Amino acid sequence: MSFKDATLIEVDSAVHEAHIAFLSYKNFSGKKRAEFLRAIADEIEALGDELVKTAMSETALPEARIIGERGRTTGHCRMFADYIQEGSWVEARVDTALPDRAPAPKPDIRKKMTALGPVVVFGAANFPLAYSTAGGDTASALAAGCPVIVKAHPAHAKTSELVAGAILKAMSKTGMPKGVFQHLHGAGFEVGQALVKHPNTKAVGFTGSFAGGKALFDLANQRPVPIPVFAEMSSINPIVLLPNSLKKNFESTASMLAASMVLGVGQFCTNPGLILAVEDDGLNQFIKHLSGALSKSLPAEMLHPGIANNYVKRMAEALSQKGVKLEVQSEAESKVGDKNQGRPTLASAPASEFLKNPALAEEVFGPFSLIIRCKDMGELNSVVSHLHGQLTATIIGDEEEIAKASNITNTLIDRAGRLIINGVPTGVEVCPSQNHGGPFPATTDSRFTAVGTDAIKRFARPVSFQNFPDSLLPDELKNKNPLGIWRIVNGEMTQKGW
Ligand code: NAP
Repeated sequence: MSFKDATLIEVDSAVHEAHIAFLSYKNFSGKKRAEFLRAIADEIEALGDELVKTAMSETALPEARIIGERGRTTGHCRMFADYIQEGSWVEARVDTALPDRAPAPKPDIRKKMTALGPVVVFGAANFPLAYSTAGGDTASALAAGCPVIVKAHPAHAKTSELVAGAILKAMSKTGMPKGVFQHLHGAGFEVGQALVKHPNTKAVGFTGSFAGGKALFDLANQRPVPIPVFAEMSSINPIVLLPNSLKKNFESTASMLAASMVLGVGQFCTNPGLILAVEDDGLNQFIKHLSGALSKSLPAEMLHPGIANNYVKRMAEALSQKGVKLEVQSEAESKVGDKNQGRPTLASAPASEFLKNPALAEEVFGPFSLIIRCKDMGELNSVVSHLHGQLTATIIGDEEEIAKASNITNTLIDRAGRLIINGVPTGVEVCPSQNHGGPFPATTDSRFTAVGTDAIKRFARPVSFQNFPDSLLPDELKNKNPLGIWRIVNGEMTQKGW
């Protein structure tokens, strides 16, 4: 089934409607918005098997993965519902007046976070549910009080349409104003670009390629009134293997990384694409075992032909760079009739080439990793310092060795949004302490996370209210604290009013 692309007139009317909806929706209580988010979760579950089968047929992802992703999607809708119903997320600060202060009196000033306005969300190819129509961007924007317009990803348009139907049902069941959620199709850039350029659009959420995210970011900054674009784009998630530990644990480290590399045919933004280590016997043993594991892993169907073709092209580019050696490629050739196969592949290159050639630091989206062979710890440090911004960085070693290499950890803190010790970057826990973001080019704004409760902060801004009489203040800032939320009142954290 194919869906009609939205016309520019439809784009204009959608953003206009979202703006009208914003004027009332932003003032709805946290409780009412929470009811809407919970109803979305219920309606997605009510789609039952049809949703699972549709997503499987459009993406080639297995049933267990789609069911897991559905749980994650309904889970984050309910997580944001609980979060905004409790209410402290608005970060209320109250500084009461000191009329007798000398030399000048202090006014009464109170501050809270408030919604930005209509948000445009681009569905991601690699997460048809959890980062698409009712994904983390949509749920956090709706939670903040922002209407959402989703530009469906054409690779799973039918799945997107089903989820959009569930959200529309939830809107009508919970009495939400028309225009709080809208869903547009558009295979081609025109619809997405018109949405980003529209004067009533106030922010954008995006997950996809560097080229796409950067193009939309630039477009948003060229508007007469620029707006924030929260784009999650490109990360190769470096893994630093410290030599003493590698000598002892080369086999278990190789098995752990092989599993992470091929998980979901490598189509995760947290896929371990770069492995850094010192050239020695431990590294040779590690490469032997990792190659053994990868040679036995089967190629599998990737999400869509565009991603599969891109994988083949980007991998060929990486393998053609000076100094790059192909270590292993999955032994199993694609069978006749198999389509869009992603073949697990491992390559290596000397650090001297990595330091000279920016092409070696580019993302190859799929089950591909490049090992950088460093001649000593000094060169390993230089490679770490040379890295771009990343979503994650991992160090594998024992506590003592990691402590000795503290400059590596220190540098990685400046390069990545999440640091991991003795684990793998794939698997992003959804919880308040999660940070899924990182310095450019991993994202366009390293100050925010796309996962976890803090994702709501992308779609809200602080507003101060000076000398407002109590009756005219938002509930969160009134003297009596009618919602009972945590606030900082004259420097003290309290849940009480007065
Ligand atoms: P994409 O090409 O970036 O597209 C994502 C969405 O953005 C699509 O809806 C696309 O519209 C839209 N878009 C892209 N460029 C645009 C532009 N210049 N103007 C307006 N809209 C634009 O990503 P994809 O199709 O999902 O996958 C392609 C490649 O992206 C992959 O091979 C992979 O390298 C990378 N990727 C990375 C991640 C990650 O997490 N790092 C995730 C997914 C994909 P159309 O559909 O109309 O093209």
